[in-house]
Amino acid sequence: MNAYVSRVIEYVKKRHADEPEFVQTVEEVFSAISPVIDAHPEYEKADLLTRMVEPERMFTFRVVWCDDAGQWHTNIGYRCQFNGAIGPYKGGLRFQANVCPSIIKFLGFEQTFKNALTGLPMGGGKGGSDFDPAGKSEAEIMRFCQSYMTALYRYIGPDVDVPAGDMGVGGREIGYLYGQYRRLKGVWENGVLTGKGFTYGGSKTRPEATGYGAIYYLQEVLRHEGEDIRGKTIACAGFGNVTWGICKKAYQLGAKVVTLSGPDGYIYDAEGVSSSEEKIEYLVEMRNSGRNKVKDYADKFGVPFYPGEKPWGVKADIVMPSAMQNDVHMEHAQQIAANGVKYYIEVANMPTTNDALKFLMSQPGMIVAPSKAVNAGGVAVSGLEMSQNSERLSWSAEEVDEKLKVIMKTIHDMSVEAAEEYGLGYNLVAGANIAGFKKVATAMMEQGCF
Ligand code: GLU
Repeated sequence: MNAYVSRVIEYVKKRHADEPEFVQTVEEVFSAISPVIDAHPEYEKADLLTRMVEPERMFTFRVVWCDDAGQWHTNIGYRCQFNGAIGPYKGGLRFQANVCPSIIKFLGFEQTFKNALTGLPMGGGKGGSDFDPAGKSEAEIMRFCQSYMTALYRYIGPDVDVPAGDMGVGGREIGYLYGQYRRLKGVWENGVLTGKGFTYGGSKTRPEATGYGAIYYLQEVLRHEGEDIRGKTIACAGFGNVTWGICKKAYQLGAKVVTLSGPDGYIYDAEGVSSSEEKIEYLVEMRNSGRNKVKDYADKFGVPFYPGEKPWGVKADIVMPSAMQNDVHMEHAQQIAANGVKYYIEVANMPTTNDALKFLMSQPGMIVAPSKAVNAGGVAVSGLEMSQNSERLSWSAEEVDEKLKVIMKTIHDMSVEAAEEYGLGYNLVAGANIAGFKKVATAMMEQGCF
């Protein structure tokens, strides 16, 4: 590894010793782009990498809200404006009890390179709160969102920073957040948030975009290998918005999603979750119930449920970890390899621990695709939503879907080219990191040292 890269990784390990997720993502990205640093000694002179691991700005704020029983609560709000070199900061808000600086920073760092890959002018940002939406009433969610936006609205805007959804933040939350933004600012600036409802500027296909994009990317990989998606079995995780989108597209294309997971375990549906619209739409019901239990699916459709287990021991052609970070550890990676899986397609942000990822990438014949490329369709359609809002127009679902397909193909092809340029062969992980990094690095260098 390049000596400067190693030094910066060591520096990050020391400086962020209490932020394991952030250290992990920096290590992954910087190891992959080491050959670029070899080829560009000017980056060391500008100390570009140390600059890149320091967010341009990151702040916390107080979010106070009242529950239905009249009890007051205080949560921590976060926004990390990580890198604005290629566009306004852009990235989701995550509401989950485990949200902390390390998680927000890792997501903001990833987002910077992911957004660069989309080819759209978006910088990297992320935010959220340690608020746990599970079991909260509609009115509590609304009050929380209003309080959150009251603290944040001065620091965002269509040309400044454009939040969106992530775990725990969907269309409903974006609606309440936007309503409060509009009330406070007294202007129609709907480009300030993406993932909005269709009646006030949301882009068609945004709810499906991450899942659809992941399948379009998978199709490019399969095409490269001379294979077809029809009839393939897919092991997925989670049962949220992303997995729902994957199931919908898999249904249309004749592929079979056989597993879902939740905090309580996983389910196995031999016929396929993607075998009927009723099953797919039940995922929405499960999510809206706030119960956060995948066992509900097993009870409803009479399929096996495995409490406390993860689905990675199941035989499938394709594995798509689509739930959350660090879901696949070394022992799972070994099971996946032993099952002869050929396609390991990351979907959630950093779903694989670094040692497990290295192990999977070293398996002969296994193709590994990185999440920052595979899940970029979500934020890409957010970028399209920003364009539609700024031009006060609305594209049809077909138009957006067409653009999404082109973007996913371009991300795949750009990654292939970037890896080939450095003599790395068909290495999608290295290629995506290199392609995203090069764009951000070039913009930062051209804009001077700040
Ligand atoms: N949270 C999503 C992501 O990880 C979407 C971000 C957005 O649409 O801005 O990319």
